[in-house]
Amino acid sequence: MNLNDFLEYYFKQDNIEAQRVFMTFQSYIVALAVFPFTLWRFYQGDYAHGVADILIILVLVFFGQIAKSCSKISYFAWLFSSLYIVIVLYILNITGKDILFWAFPAAISMHFLLRSNEALIMNFILLAGVFLSPLSISNYAFITFVFTYLITIILTAQFSSRLKSDNRSLQNLTELDDLTQVGNRRALDKKIAEIIHSYSPQKPQCLMILDIDHFKSLNDQFGHQRGDLALKRLATMIQNVCRLNIPIYRYGGEEFVILIQASLENAGDIAEDLRKTVASSRLIREQFLTISIGIAELSPADQASEWIKKADQALYEAKNNGRNQVISYHTPALAD
Ligand code: GH3
Ligand code: MG
Ligand code: MG
Repeated sequence: MNLNDFLEYYFKQDNIEAQRVFMTFQSYIVALAVFPFTLWRFYQGDYAHGVADILIILVLVFFGQIAKSCSKISYFAWLFSSLYIVIVLYILNITGKDILFWAFPAAISMHFLLRSNEALIMNFILLAGVFLSPLSISNYAFITFVFTYLITIILTAQFSSRLKSDNRSLQNLTELDDLTQVGNRRALDKKIAEIIHSYSPQKPQCLMILDIDHFKSLNDQFGHQRGDLALKRLATMIQNVCRLNIPIYRYGGEEFVILIQASLENAGDIAEDLRKTVASSRLIREQFLTISIGIAELSPADQASEWIKKADQALYEAKNNGRNQVISYHTPALAD
């Protein structure tokens, strides 16, 4: 794993769009909240702080705008959280106490921007900054602040991790196939869109469509329950033969799709292993089953439907050639 892959993995968040919307919303809300204070400072003749407030508003609006279109939104979330801390501590240092209450929304917002553990670290950095700031408040007020701040960050951390785990469970429910517990069509569409979006010629991507041969006759002879069992066991077998991190999906009735980052040749070898393993195992005790597999490599110009269609064409050829075989799709040679 190179540095870029590591950063991509590490900063990958569950819901980028929600994070983007939150960041823009938060920037504008905070800018709006700071605005009356700016007017107040000018009214009081405190021009230096008034100008500082205007700068803060401009920076917040600027960040809010960038968040709408920034492609590396998770890096930006870190920058945003750091900026929030710097602003709170900066104003705290010039005013002595007025700004202390702003530490609360800052603490809460971190949990919407970062992972729970990261947000807690940022919360404690903010608290440490408050400790080091010259505060013109009583010890009692300071201790009250520290305790209420600690309670706020603990409750927020608990709330946000519960929200995230509920979201994950919901996502699993909507993206898992009930019978086989592999990804469903919705999950497949999403993954294909991701792969096409991040296509790179250095990382060839292959799509395999796998279809059980004469599955209808198995159902007819032994009943749907035995058919269901065969489907479940086949899904487990695919997962065992392919490496764990290779995504597997149920494409339709007795068809599965495997997405694999490999050349057509390597994907072909894996498919052949899988075909042989299935052919020599008894998925159900009544009879041996065979599968046919069609493979297609993603071309730079392919949309999802074209990619699937190519693999489907290869599968169709495998069926026509007598089944129980693997066929790779090859781009037709151009006529002279
Ligand atoms: P081929 O070798 O050409 O693929 O023949 P086939 O009989 O496998 O193909 P066909 O598409 O005609 O039949 C697929 C069958 O899969 C039809 C349907 O009864 C069965 N099937 C689809 N979904 C399920 C399911 O969830 N459970 C069970 N038991 N059977 C299913
Ligand atoms: Mg079929
Ligand atoms: Mg079939």
